[in-house]
Amino acid sequence: MKYDVVHRGDELSARLAEKFLALASERGMMQNTEQPDLVISIGGDGTMLHAFHRYVDRLDRIAFVGVHTGHLGFYADWKANELPELVEHMASIRDAGLEEKIVRYPLVEAKVIRERVTSVHLACNELTLRGVRSMLVARVDINGSPIEMFRGDGICVSSPSGSTAYNKSLNGAIIHPSLEAIQIAEMASINNRVYRTLGSPMILPKHHHCEIVPKAGQHLHISVDHLQFEYDDVVAIRCSVSEKKVRFARFRPFPFWVRVKEAFIGADVD
Ligand code: NAP
Ligand code: MN
Repeated sequence: MKYDVVHRGDELSARLAEKFLALASERGMMQNTEQPDLVISIGGDGTMLHAFHRYVDRLDRIAFVGVHTGHLGFYADWKANELPELVEHMASIRDAGLEEKIVRYPLVEAKVIRERVTSVHLACNELTLRGVRSMLVARVDINGSPIEMFRGDGICVSSPSGSTAYNKSLNGAIIHPSLEAIQIAEMASINNRVYRTLGSPMILPKHHHCEIVPKAGQHLHISVDHLQFEYDDVVAIRCSVSEKKVRFARFRPFPFWVRVKEAFIGADVD
């Protein structure tokens, strides 16, 4: 099995990455940064986002695993002291068995249409659109029909696995990643007798799409996960559930709702 390791860059994560390399080579597995089958992210959820974007062109051939060196993460669910166990799992299944261990999570596909260029982005967590010097003014269309004129801080379009990130701070719903959907959540919309938005998050199924059409001439900030862009010529952003998915190796069960509880509520409930 060919693997690569991506780490956060702090001392603990770097030391664990070295340890992982040593353990894996003892078991005859080699690092391959060009064409890995498995990518181990050591750090936090943010590190997994970096790993995802580093290998975004090879998503169909790569599975990710996350080790956390801080708090429990949604993408990083192995503990630092479990590296030997993780390497054992990898060594015992070899290449052929990896497919059976894989879960696939939906992604947001966002086409950013500007005056002269169009780019397509994949978000593991979310895309956000915000005003830079003033609030965002944009029409929101769903499947080609205008639904509202948005005025406020911005709009967040998240994936199910990203629903526990920025989306959750916006009071969006938590969506199980087995549902192929995207969620549109508002950031501080203005609602009064003049301006009106729906106010509730909207969840779109596969094959539906939303288009955010900003009023011309605005200076806008776009984020795709941890990546940031600023443009003053955005014509429209079209979001949908991507045909592509991100693949995670689940060597042992750790149900999504248990991760939700442990991350947000704590280990004990009574
Ligand atoms: P960051 O500022 O370190 O991330 C903010 C927090 O979000 C970190 O605690 C991060 O966990 C956590 N996180 C990331 N993905 C998550 C997920 N799918 N579920 C639950 N928590 C998650 O920046 P970053 O590490 O580069 O991550 C970028 C992400 O930060 C963005 O995709 C966005 O979702 C999130 N963000 C949230 C807000 C907000 O809630 N107001 C604002 C800006 C950005 P780790 O500490 O394990 O990395
Ligand atoms: Mn982070």
